[in-house]
Amino acid sequence: MEANNILIIGGGAAGISVAASLQRHSSGKKLSITIVDPADTHYYQPAFTIVGGGVYSFDKTHRPMKSLIPNGVTLVSKAATKIDPDNNQVTLDDGETLDYDYLVVCPGLVLDWDAIEGAKEALGKNGVCSNYSPDYVRYTWETLQTLQSGSKAVFTQAPMPFKCPGAPQKIAYLTADYLRGKGILEQCDVTFANPGPGMFGVAYFAKQLDKVIEGYGIHKKMLHKLIKVDGDNKKATFEVVDGDDKGKVVEMEFDMLHITPHQKTPDFLHGSPITNEGGWVEVDQESMQHIKYPNIFSLGDACSTPNSKTAAAIRKQVPTVVANINHVIDGQEIEKSYYGYGSCPLTTARGKVLMAEFIYGGKVTPTLPFFTTPYKSTWLMWISKTIGLPLLYWSYMLKGHHKFFEHFDGL
Ligand SMILES: Cc1cc2nc3c(=O)[nH]c(=O)nc-3n(C[C@H](O)[C@H](O)[C@H](O)COP(=O)(O)OP(=O)(O)OC[C@H]3O[C@@H](n4cnc5c(N)ncnc54)[C@H](O)[C@@H]3O)c2cc1C
Repeated sequence: MEANNILIIGGGAAGISVAASLQRHSSGKKLSITIVDPADTHYYQPAFTIVGGGVYSFDKTHRPMKSLIPNGVTLVSKAATKIDPDNNQVTLDDGETLDYDYLVVCPGLVLDWDAIEGAKEALGKNGVCSNYSPDYVRYTWETLQTLQSGSKAVFTQAPMPFKCPGAPQKIAYLTADYLRGKGILEQCDVTFANPGPGMFGVAYFAKQLDKVIEGYGIHKKMLHKLIKVDGDNKKATFEVVDGDDKGKVVEMEFDMLHITPHQKTPDFLHGSPITNEGGWVEVDQESMQHIKYPNIFSLGDACSTPNSKTAAAIRKQVPTVVANINHVIDGQEIEKSYYGYGSCPLTTARGKVLMAEFIYGGKVTPTLPFFTTPYKSTWLMWISKTIGLPLLYWSYMLKGHHKFFEHFDGL
């Protein structure tokens, strides 16, 4: 029997989970699986929020890439630079080409610091930090501890789409809670600036988060997009993107500035035959199969599906991708079994998480409806965020135990 040659671009949350799950759930088939990824280190990015908030060790967020590659899967430590879907071929950064029978594209997102003037130069000093980068997440916690009575802390959100849309406000809450714990919240000035019109894409949760932000007295600046950072003079410049003040430029002083960078897919996907105008790999939103090339699948942050870009979404996309690769190999009809699940554990305080879980159309789908009320921040969900989910990630998701999750997720 000839092996089915499966090539996976990206060894992040999606790529490793797909490889491991294919090995477990493709009985009777001979598979040759290769992951292409130039990175030496794999990060559990969902924990960056709690590292920045000072309640989790950075050392627990990363492992060597090689240690996570399932036995029998080949790792090619190079970057993909081109996909030729008509000839089933991928070119790598040293010019080598790899053939495939089935291609899974999941190279995640790139942090586009250049989209904000001065941001790259300002990072890592003068109180300018970001949980989005493994290089600067520890500086968030360092900066947070320097705040004192009279300090100004500004938190920014990127234009959509970007990964974990709740993360920009999570660190604002953890900071406000820290200041409250020190008894100086009322004497500090905390601002959350968002280019969007609301606190969250799902109205049910947005209503609750409005109460959380008000409870802390955080100044909400909606429709404000960060356009420039002057670290030396501790000034951030925003543009109002809509409404009566559209086009107005607003300056804010800060002692701490937490930036959420703009995000985009890697360059090699822009202008590729498999992506749309925005550079997103164009797949059917329920089957994760490419709309034009039936032997190509995509999942995770780089694909076009309109779910919340989270590792939680990937947990539910993996079984669909794996089942459909098997169906295509077997000549069977593909299934449409991903309904847009995404989840966002909103750290509303130290020890409290509001677990927002939802599917396409903003339907709320809590995993544990008997234990928690979906809009309430609870200690149980804090334990889930800080202990349960990291364990599930490293020991189950990356090991391909996707059947396990069928008993746990909201849908
Ligand atoms: C601050 C923060 C907080 C978050 N919080 C949460 C949360 O609470 N819950 C949650 O579920 N999710 C959360 N997320 C989102 C989650 O981490 C991502 O959605 C998830 O990691 C995306 O997985 P991925 O495999 O698509 O991409 P990634 O995990 O980013 O992996 C992409 C891989 O592709 C590789 N790659 C890139 N370019 C190429 C190329 N040209 N060739 C080959 N390989 C390439 C990269 O090296 C990388 O290893 C958070 C993210 C951040 C940054």
